[in-house]
Amino acid sequence: MDQKPKSIIYTIITVLVFIVLISYIVYLEYNKDILIKKTDELETQNQTYLKEFYKLKDIAASSTLAFNDLYTTLSKVMQEEGLKNKTLEEKLISLDKLTRSDPKLLQKYSKIYFLNENYTPREIGNISSDYIFNKKVEYKLHVDVIYFLLSMIDDARKEGLNPLIISAYRSFDSQVNLKAKNKVTYGSNTANRFVAEQGYSEHQLGTTVDLTIPSIGSVSMTFDKTKEYEWLQNNAHKYGFILSYPKSNAYYAYEPWHWRFVGIDLATQLHQDNIYFYNLDQRKIDDYLVNIFDK
Ligand SMILES: [Zn+2]
Repeated sequence: MDQKPKSIIYTIITVLVFIVLISYIVYLEYNKDILIKKTDELETQNQTYLKEFYKLKDIAASSTLAFNDLYTTLSKVMQEEGLKNKTLEEKLISLDKLTRSDPKLLQKYSKIYFLNENYTPREIGNISSDYIFNKKVEYKLHVDVIYFLLSMIDDARKEGLNPLIISAYRSFDSQVNLKAKNKVTYGSNTANRFVAEQGYSEHQLGTTVDLTIPSIGSVSMTFDKTKEYEWLQNNAHKYGFILSYPKSNAYYAYEPWHWRFVGIDLATQLHQDNIYFYNLDQRKIDDYLVNIFDK
């Protein structure tokens, strides 16, 4: 082949390649512009969204603050109302306790002031024979007092002691029967003395028991020589019991066996102040009535 046409072909090819290259570069540049434009558009859109997002975030934050404020206020109000209700509830409970508690339960009785013969406790219940000296006899007590009495005896037993009940609730009728029976056995003078025991009214309340131990087995002065008596003197108040007629009290004969329930608060106060129940002013005693059965 000739040298000339060859050269022309090369030139044409070169020009074509050049054109293609230029076209490609132009095409790329064009696309780049479009891409930049698109990116700008997206960026603008993104900014708008971000703005919207921050706006919404602000709204949410202020709503949360407002909600928190509202919540705090509401909680406060509820708490205050709750306290009010609680105080009201406590007052109602006290009132209810007071209306249900029997003022006779903390009354002082004497040879002059007796409990009415028609009086009966609100409710009486049987005492388990396990706590009774003579298992054949059924003893009853004010239902609300039984728990305290049995707790006391149970705890004394844990220390190897064995106080047992030899008398508990006595109705007026049973008292009359007892008097009649004793008249036959001992003659009327002895019977009168025996049954006119000062604790008579206290037994009719259903809150009082006479205690003994197996080796004595009766109401006896010698009970005060026992470990059981010593324990009761130191601990009975914790269960709400007091000795109604202690040694050399100003009013009545000494009865170491005769224990009356007056409630833990009053019994503990009397024990701490070393005052006898019958020496305390009746108005002061009555303050303890509302909580007499508190554990
Ligand atoms: Zn008694």
